[in-house]
Amino acid sequence: MSAKAALLAAMLGGCAAAAPVHQASAPAGAVSGTEHVAQCQGRDGWSDAAPPVRVYANVWQVGTCGIVALLVTSDAGHILIDAATDEAAPDIARNIERLGFKLSDVKIILNGHEHLDHAGGIGALQRMTGARLLARSPARAVLESGEASADDPQLGLNPKFPGARVDGIVADGEIVRLGPLALTAHATPGHTPGSTSWSWRSCAGAECRNIVYGDSISALSNDSYRFSDHPAYVAAFRAGLDRLAGLGCDILITPHPGASDLHARLAGTAPLVDAKACARYAAGGRARLDARLAKENGR
Ligand SMILES: [Zn+2]
Ligand SMILES: [Zn+2]
Repeated sequence: MSAKAALLAAMLGGCAAAAPVHQASAPAGAVSGTEHVAQCQGRDGWSDAAPPVRVYANVWQVGTCGIVALLVTSDAGHILIDAATDEAAPDIARNIERLGFKLSDVKIILNGHEHLDHAGGIGALQRMTGARLLARSPARAVLESGEASADDPQLGLNPKFPGARVDGIVADGEIVRLGPLALTAHATPGHTPGSTSWSWRSCAGAECRNIVYGDSISALSNDSYRFSDHPAYVAAFRAGLDRLAGLGCDILITPHPGASDLHARLAGTAPLVDAKACARYAAGGRARLDARLAKENGR
């Protein structure tokens, strides 16, 4: 190889190594995991503003101290999963811009489940971005009206939230695509009827990880609801937990950061990558559901 060719090869190689698809260097507006956690110290409210932080590669937490809103980015546009409360929506928008991304490049909004603390800000973010909201059919009416469905175990506990426009329905197992992004919907009903978990693969250079946004799986309800009165719903709940446990899972992220110890993992005091995290998360949900059913039956 001539010196000139060697130099050219080195330059090309250097360029390729410096600019892999999903690993731009951290934008100026992102803070470190440690800083994100420090700024949330003693502040864990649903609407407590937090600085944006990279979770992994093209996956960013742009939500609040108490609620996760995930931005999954690509050169062909971005997908936002969840939007915390209506009150938090302007902070989420600011976080997206602070990372150097344009609001108008957020093309799709997805949701974990149809409760105020995760869906309350979707209507406002949809107006600010022009994004299409895609949801599973059991969540549709709730996302549009902001009012809990009759079959929500927590009916009557959560205040109404501003509605959004649902632009398309996603089926269990369907893949939502945007440019190079491909996020699979997994029905994980139980906490709510429309509860949905999402999985995809993100790459930091040559290193790729399976990311799972595992929705809330707690068997919570109002005082009069009994899970044992709804055997088909409980069966679907269990099937969703099995599905979650079986997902190839390198990095688990949950709508409430504490449910997957996210702050410790961002701060580096617990491992970010844990292939057993989804199975353990599902097992915890199963144990709490079993305890709840036993309690209802006086055992
Ligand atoms: Zn909820
Ligand atoms: Zn919640």
